[in-house]
Amino acid sequence: MRVTTAFNKILSIPSATVASVEFTPEGVVVGLRRRRGRPRCPCGRRATGAYDSSVRRWRHLDLGSNKLWLQAEIRRLDCRRCGRVRTEGVPWARPRARHSRDFEDVVAWLAQRTDKTTITRLLRTSWETVAGMVERVVAEQIDTRRLTGLLRIGVDEVSYRKGHRYLTVVADHDQSGRVVWAAEGKNAATLEAFYDQLGEAGCEQLQAVSMDLGAAFKKATDTKAPQARQCVDPFHLVALANEAINKARRWAWNIERDKARRAAALAGPKRRGRPPAGSPPPARDQTRWVKHARWALLKDPGALKPSQLDVLHELRRSGSVLYRCWQLKEGLRDLYRLTDPTDAPVHLDWWLAWACRSRIPAFVTLSKTVRANRERILAAIELGLSNSKLEGLNSKIRLINHRGYGHHSAAALIAMIYLCCGGLTIQLPTER
Ligand SMILES: [Zn+2]
Repeated sequence: MRVTTAFNKILSIPSATVASVEFTPEGVVVGLRRRRGRPRCPCGRRATGAYDSSVRRWRHLDLGSNKLWLQAEIRRLDCRRCGRVRTEGVPWARPRARHSRDFEDVVAWLAQRTDKTTITRLLRTSWETVAGMVERVVAEQIDTRRLTGLLRIGVDEVSYRKGHRYLTVVADHDQSGRVVWAAEGKNAATLEAFYDQLGEAGCEQLQAVSMDLGAAFKKATDTKAPQARQCVDPFHLVALANEAINKARRWAWNIERDKARRAAALAGPKRRGRPPAGSPPPARDQTRWVKHARWALLKDPGALKPSQLDVLHELRRSGSVLYRCWQLKEGLRDLYRLTDPTDAPVHLDWWLAWACRSRIPAFVTLSKTVRANRERILAAIELGLSNSKLEGLNSKIRLINHRGYGHHSAAALIAMIYLCCGGLTIQLPTER
């Protein structure tokens, strides 16, 4: 069998035959001869003649440990529909790509499942190249009808690049939280751009929109989809309660520290050496303790380690204000653990009364925020829009961001989000 025939059988490149095979230091270069025919613009139009032509190489899937390159003459054509000179489309590669379709599909399939280092080492390519491939695959595969018929959506912001830049992400609650839209920015105008893309009819169809407690998304929804019921994502409310705990902890720590300082001043100059037997433990320990109670206070009670449980018990025994903080936080979280969701309004009002009388500044502030958003918080429970999906989404996006060790551009990150959270199914070349 001739070597060209063998490569024809191995590669079976659509509408081209193998004309030559060359072993070079860069790898195996397979020369392709196109079947005869007029060049076709990527827009689909056939051109009458070629403008000029050149030879191009595309990286294809490796042959053993050799890199494999496809090489063919590629023509440029003056497309009347596009109104400019464009490079003809070839069936084995996407427009502007320097890798074959099969190579790009394998990369996209891997990018859905694994991290940067694995892909770049396994396929011997750069991360920038991977980002470009993901963008091309997503542009081709994304469901263009994903914005039609949306009923219940969730909106959230996602920080990237060490928290300095933000994306606004919209997910479809009825499609198991798949991402349907993402764009750079996190203000009202960003979300308004989404509603504009949805169109007036699409906005009118919306039944519920879940979001954070901020004003931006609320404002955009108020103006563009006023009929939709707005809900506050439980995830954000719990995050706010945790923040209140941290503030209260610092507040309590400051109080303890001042107490310790006053006690130290009263006791006069420090005595050297071991304190006499039976003397009370130094007050300073108490302050350190408040500082270290952090995780015990923040974690889910079910997930606490024995040592952290001891911390909680100690706080309760000593009548610490932090124990009350912890009770307040868990009381708010209980809102989402009620066996009967119709009890939610009564539970929330009971909590509000408790929190605003607590005389713990952080929780008094929190109670004000909660009161201002009472209807939106209860709507989430009534409509069963738990944020577990969106919370999952948020951590998924953070993971993707982390996997990529930061993306060069928002566009690259958005493409990666669509690839991994947009419900795209990438077919491997071997599965077709
Ligand atoms: Zn064209």
